[in-house]
Amino acid sequence: MLDAELCRRWMAAMAAAVDREADRLTELDAAIGDADHGANLRRGFAAVAAALEKEPQDTPGAVLTLAGRQLISTVGGASGPLYGTLLRRAGKALGDAPSATRAELAAALGAGVAAVAQLGGATAGDKTMLDALEPAVTALGDVSFAAAARAAGEGAVATVPMRARKGRASYLGERSVGHQDPGATSSALLLAALAEVAA
Ligand code: ADP
Ligand code: MG
Repeated sequence: MLDAELCRRWMAAMAAAVDREADRLTELDAAIGDADHGANLRRGFAAVAAALEKEPQDTPGAVLTLAGRQLISTVGGASGPLYGTLLRRAGKALGDAPSATRAELAAALGAGVAAVAQLGGATAGDKTMLDALEPAVTALGDVSFAAAARAAGEGAVATVPMRARKGRASYLGERSVGHQDPGATSSALLLAALAEVAA
């Protein structure tokens, strides 16, 4: 069972992971984007962690909704509205229940992933965060937190040979091949952070 406290720890763990990995995320974005993904997410998740310390929220749905809102309002890049939509939509799907099962969280994140796909117009194989998020959410529903983290990591690595069809990297066309997508990489951090606190 996941409660609000666990979701707050998830967001805090993600803020710490993004802070630790910011340089790597920025390097990946330097290769096929504009070198701001690390800074974008560091700013965004630091704001999420600060907001949750000030207003802790008492349901998983409210924690994710507040996190999503913070990301949308503090991150300028494409990833802010996209991650914000993921978490806000997932939070809305969880409603005001005091806790959620792993299956319920997977279903809620599934709704979030669908909203991200709709907002960004991307599908699996376009070399975006969806290539990590989609397999992760499936594994979360079917198997375990650890399997979801593994699937996200594998999904991120699988973006290397892909040609980007959405976002800034798509401007590079064929030259985007051979690089790991920054957003898929940060999505793997999000699922790793969840597995870390839910273990
Ligand atoms: P920006 O591209 O505005 O500089 P970031 O560098 O923070 O924003 O984020 C880039 C990441 O956002 C990409 O690596 C990709 O995973 C994700 N992304 C970009 N456009 C889309 C889209 N249309 N759908 C899904 N994800 C996208
Ligand atoms: Mg960028």
